[in-house]
Amino acid sequence: MSAGQRSRRCEGPTDLHLHSDHSDGTEPPAQVMAAAHRHGLRTVALTDHDTTSGWAEAAEAATSLGMTLLPGMELSARHEWRSVHVLGYLFDPDDTTLRALTDRIRDSRLSRARTMADRIGRDYDLTWDDIVAQTAVGATVGRPHIADALVARGHVRDRGEAFSGILSPAGAYYVDLYAPDPITAVAAIVGAGGVPIIAHPAARAGLLPARMVDGMLAAGLAGFELGHRENREPALGALRALVARHDLIVTGSSDYHGLGKPNVPGENTTSDEMVQRIVARATGSAPVYA
Ligand code: AMP
Ligand code: FE
Ligand code: FE
Ligand code: ZN
Repeated sequence: MSAGQRSRRCEGPTDLHLHSDHSDGTEPPAQVMAAAHRHGLRTVALTDHDTTSGWAEAAEAATSLGMTLLPGMELSARHEWRSVHVLGYLFDPDDTTLRALTDRIRDSRLSRARTMADRIGRDYDLTWDDIVAQTAVGATVGRPHIADALVARGHVRDRGEAFSGILSPAGAYYVDLYAPDPITAVAAIVGAGGVPIIAHPAARAGLLPARMVDGMLAAGLAGFELGHRENREPALGALRALVARHDLIVTGSSDYHGLGKPNVPGENTTSDEMVQRIVARATGSAPVYA
């Protein structure tokens, strides 16, 4: 990074968690950037699940709208039964270890989605082609795409109904995907020069065990996304105390998914000071300034 780039500053309002159709958002990256801009944002991150393929289009669109882009990703991880999402910012997208990890996760997501489609197809009128029709070419496939196929076939009203019923982990059709443990995920992002932040850490699944959090901090975990609509007390309060104790980074974001969720760009934001801390800590890539 040049001295010129380093001296530039990202200006808010800032939203560091948005999805495009390169994963389970419903809009291409340029449209996501346009939506962010309409909602008054000036700095944004594209954080598709397990892929960086949307970065180039997002950078082009963001800068043409006068916004700064922080390239990012939401990396899938799992601790026991609990799915853990690790946001990574400003890492090197060509890092071989991280790429091998995301390739493996995406491969597993594909075979898992096919197996789930087969299982669902025994009871409902649904084929793999229905899911392909809901998934952009090359996108990271997930249950949201199966949900959209179920909606298109008229089996459920919306993604929410699909997730609480047919796609539920408690149901007969669910298949696990391969996901690394959270410490491996954090270490992979750090190894690629990025800054790892746990997404929606106080959502329904509740807090990770303290020992796991300590392990992630030792591996270089930078902070927590405390501003997220799915976070709940009392877990949130416990994390606020942890963050204060370790002087960690705190972010706030929308987790926008286009029409896939009601979340609106900018509904939670990240302070300029915290964005600056993320940029200062990263060595893998730089913000793309307007
Ligand atoms: P997967 O990683 O394929 O198991 O799918 C999980 C993804 O589905 C998460 O990234 C969420 O964005 C999305 N998701 C989870 N629950 C819901 C819901 N109730 N409505 C819409 N999207 C959801
Ligand atoms: Fe998602
Ligand atoms: Fe997530
Ligand atoms: Zn997300």
